Amino acid sequence: QSTIERIAAGEVVERPASVVKELVENSLDADASRVRVTVERGGKDGIRVADDGTGMTRENVERAVEKHTTSKIGDISDLEAGVSSLGFRGEALAAIGAVARVTIRTKARGESRGTELRMAGGEVETVEPAGCPEGTTVEVSDLFYNVPARRKYLKRDATEFAHVNRVATGYALSKPDLALVLEHDDREVFSTTGQGSLEATILSVYGREVAEAMVPVDGDGADLPDGPLDGVTGVVSHPETNRASPEHCSTFINGRYVTARAVRDAVVEAYGGQLAPDRYPFAVVFLSISPESVDVNVHPRKLEVRFADESGATEQVKSAVESALLDAGL
Ligand code: ADP
Ligand code: MG
Repeated sequence: QSTIERIAAGEVVERPASVVKELVENSLDADASRVRVTVERGGKDGIRVADDGTGMTRENVERAVEKHTTSKIGDISDLEAGVSSLGFRGEALAAIGAVARVTIRTKARGESRGTELRMAGGEVETVEPAGCPEGTTVEVSDLFYNVPARRKYLKRDATEFAHVNRVATGYALSKPDLALVLEHDDREVFSTTGQGSLEATILSVYGREVAEAMVPVDGDGADLPDGPLDGVTGVVSHPETNRASPEHCSTFINGRYVTARAVRDAVVEAYGGQLAPDRYPFAVVFLSISPESVDVNVHPRKLEVRFADESGATEQVKSAVESALLDAGL
């Protein structure tokens, strides 16, 4: 396994949460309506993502774990030149398989038999017929066992789990028709029904107290001040329902979960001092914007975004949240 492959793998697989993200993404691509994410010790000891999607035939699963990385990356300088321009589409499974032990159990819809493929450190070890339900289960253990430098860089279990939880929560909130279960160390963290609205999902993820404190944000075109956003919708919480952690402000741009500190700050500002210092509301904010007005690929894995007109966008967010709070008499 070459250095380049390892570095490339590191770009995709930064920590357990990035594995979860790639695997859930694959489940959604495979049309899954139920996804169960199970992690142990923040994902450092184990990550399992099971779905009821289309599954893979034996040929498909063998192809799925092949690496294509080398053909796209010439040498180290290509990587330094700008990883985002290369894109890592098509190599997530191969990259994860390069830095962990992976078992994939899968059965394609309509097939009588499933397949189990085991790999470790980039090498496929066994491919065997297996009895399993339709869909795919990917199990990842010993993440970074062969890359000690990365293993060492992982944080405490609780911190790694917080990242996993954030990723899972993002999918749950943006996909109300996905039934998503998250389990950590044998404890169910949340479970969404996949039949609900955003409100039902918030109830599942954050609990009743928070769900009952939410007010709708309904900023569509005409109500918004001029700016790059076409819509600001979602829900925000009553000022008294807040937490010390900014994690509870989730932003989605065109349906995709992102990290946008400026948006979160604008939400907080809309409360105009009603929040205690260092407290954050619960907020789930969906922004729609034409793709050319926002760069979602600042970093290929970090979910950061950059607006062409950031102050225009944040003014619109602030205005929409202010109106929502005002309408609710808050
Ligand atoms: P990409 O998703 O960009 O194609 P991946 O390495 O993540 O690259 O996955 C490679 C391929 O493996 C996918 O294109 C898909 O055909 C198959 N695959 C991966 N995960 C699943 C899954 N959960 N269900 C069905 N097929 C899957
Ligand atoms: Mg993928």
